[in-house]
Amino acid sequence: MLEVLDKIAPGVYSTSTLLYGAEVKFYSMRLKLTNNLETEVKNLFAAGDGAGITRGIIHAAVSGVVAAREILKRIGK
Ligand SMILES: Cc1cc2nc3c(=O)[nH]c(=O)nc-3n(C[C@H](O)[C@H](O)[C@H](O)COP(=O)(O)OP(=O)(O)OC[C@H]3O[C@@H](n4cnc5c(N)ncnc54)[C@H](O)[C@@H]3O)c2cc1C
Repeated sequence: MLEVLDKIAPGVYSTSTLLYGAEVKFYSMRLKLTNNLETEVKNLFAAGDGAGITRGIIHAAVSGVVAAREILKRIGK
């Protein structure tokens, strides 16, 4: 397929071409968190996709910042 496609889009059939399979996402797990992303366990925070609260790079990164800011506040920094 790539060989044929290369005829109308030259360069596609190269060693640096990356092919993805279909992406199926499941986000059934979702922790109960406060607005500061603290879990029901005091001083245990959860951020990013693993906590079930984000689905992309930027949101995952921002959620880490939210949790980190609260942690810094608590340790007086
Ligand atoms: C194929 C694909 C394409 C994507 N494309 C996009 C896109 O175009 N734009 C976009 O915004 N988002 C995209 N995403 C989603 C994005 O990658 C995630 O939302 C984001 O990376 C989540 O960040 P995270 O830090 O929460 O988790 P992750 O990036 O998954 O980081 C979790 C880290 O924890 C580590 N880890 C796991 N278990 C343990 C353990 N027991 N001990 C220590 N470390 C552990 C893992 O190795 C990993 O490094 C894509 C995802 C996939 C799979």
